[in-house]
Amino acid sequence: MKQGIIVKVSGPLVVAKGIGNARMYDVVRVSEKKLIGEIIELHGDQASIQVYEDTAGLGPGEPVYSTGMPLSVELGPGMVGAIYDGIQRPLDVIREQVGDYITRGIDIPALDRKKKWKFEPQVKNGDKVVGGDILGVVQETAVVVHKVLVPPGLSGTVAAVEKGKFTVEQTVVRLKTGDGTVDLTMMQRWPVRRPRPYQKKLVPTAPLITGQRVIDTFFPVGKGGTACVPGPFGSGKTVIQHQLAKWANTEIVVYIGCGERGNEMTDVLTEFPELKDPRTGESLMKRTVLIANTSNMPVAAREASVYTGITIAEYFRDMGYSVAVMADSTSRWAEAMREISGRLEEMPGEEGYPAYLGTRVAEFYERAGMVVCECAGNRKGSLTVIGAVSPPGGDLSDPVVQATLRVVKVFWSLEDILAFKRHFPAISWLNSYSLYYDNISEHLNRDVSEDFETMRDEAMKLLQQEAELEEMVKLVGVESLAQSDRLILKTAKSIREDFLHQNAFHEVDTFTSMKKQFLLLKLISDMHRQSEEALQKGVTVEKLTAIPANEEVARSKFISEQKMESIKAVGEHMETQIQKLIQEVTTENA
Ligand code: ADP
Repeated sequence: MKQGIIVKVSGPLVVAKGIGNARMYDVVRVSEKKLIGEIIELHGDQASIQVYEDTAGLGPGEPVYSTGMPLSVELGPGMVGAIYDGIQRPLDVIREQVGDYITRGIDIPALDRKKKWKFEPQVKNGDKVVGGDILGVVQETAVVVHKVLVPPGLSGTVAAVEKGKFTVEQTVVRLKTGDGTVDLTMMQRWPVRRPRPYQKKLVPTAPLITGQRVIDTFFPVGKGGTACVPGPFGSGKTVIQHQLAKWANTEIVVYIGCGERGNEMTDVLTEFPELKDPRTGESLMKRTVLIANTSNMPVAAREASVYTGITIAEYFRDMGYSVAVMADSTSRWAEAMREISGRLEEMPGEEGYPAYLGTRVAEFYERAGMVVCECAGNRKGSLTVIGAVSPPGGDLSDPVVQATLRVVKVFWSLEDILAFKRHFPAISWLNSYSLYYDNISEHLNRDVSEDFETMRDEAMKLLQQEAELEEMVKLVGVESLAQSDRLILKTAKSIREDFLHQNAFHEVDTFTSMKKQFLLLKLISDMHRQSEEALQKGVTVEKLTAIPANEEVARSKFISEQKMESIKAVGEHMETQIQKLIQEVTTENA
């Protein structure tokens, strides 16, 4: 190891000189305590090092050791179900060994070195392979089959293959390459700041089904897409992220918790292992990798955690899986950038954030995508990124929100007015948007119902009309509105309360399949159309509001998935009752 010495310590930033051959982003070990740090600036012989551990007590003159390697993650069996910190140290293992507080400089590998995994080869001697090809598989958890891939960029001919149980350090395949042989294990390393390669990016067209009605129906995100959830404190960002982690139809979830409040990450740590995956009945952890920043780690670790998380996600994408990354909250990441930039005495940009904030944010979301993986064939994988942003006071002009909105294609605008009224999820139907809607509509029209798009557009139009009418109501009162306008208000209210409002904590309401979303929307749409007809025949909105079927419509979202066909019966009751009103006026008028 090349050695240098510390010349200055400023919080998480250490300046050292004399590290021979130092390169940007090389990992160094600082002082005899061997604290982990990364070189983030070089000026001649002087290196600025971002240290991922508490630097208290460090001073000039202490040594700095270069590892000559960039900040990397270990990729291989054993990641699923693990809980890592921002630089991939296994928090669960550390807790077992040293208790709740991480001892500084602790060195425990991310992947268990002793555990043996059953490797089932999928290649044989003489096979030609290239980077990304599958060498064999390991049943990693009850629900995840880990595909052991040829590391990116490597190619050759298989010269030997093992079968049986091995640790991640034992050779499973020997590859003859152009200039010798390479022994491959089930583990590979990858520098976190470099995106993993793929053949090409495709346009996301398949929807990420989340079971959250306002998202799936109105503001869907495509598999491989990007979404941003900004919102003030208490508006429901965390609940949404948790709902997505639980319900979204992806095979792997990487959850990056940047620690909003001290205990928030502990919620995830205790809640996740108890949650059952609705599809498999197994614990949710069996398809989840958690990255947690504990409160006793310095801010710099948050900076690393988003890269650690997304690199792990890319690795599973490369296996051909659909992967979702949730980052909560990216504001904490940006704040870490701001702090380090301040200590580097860089020229500050908006609100003290570094001028490269936008570039970093864009580079992060750029790593999302539906791709044809690097491999000899055309295996596809997707990586969806959903980032929460928590601007101070919920102010959307915040630089982090703005930088994020420039790159993401879906915006779920959480609003405190809605949260205050207990309308959850507090996603504004007027301000949110999804740029995937057109691509996804085709999918939904084909798989759910050919009327899906029409139904959705109709509902959205009613919600917009409601907003306009409400302005008028404020001025002149409801009484002076025409019957047809009052009907619009009645239906829009039903869309809001009986469809958009969704209780994450209700056994049935927490998840709604696309089919049921369609049935509910159709129910409301049918009600509207029949009501319009009734108005023309002379029935009043007051009468329509009084029929018992309204109550049944409102309760329909609580009808279980198994019994969803009975939503159609609700529609029939409604029709009968409206028809009866029509008959009454017709007889009165006759
Ligand atoms: P944030 O992370 O934005 O500060 P939270 O996600 O912690 O906000 O949400 C605050 C509270 O709002 C939750 O504790 C819960 O009571 C309520 N809430 C949010 N979303 C929902 C939902 N979909 N269903 C029911 N309650 C919700």
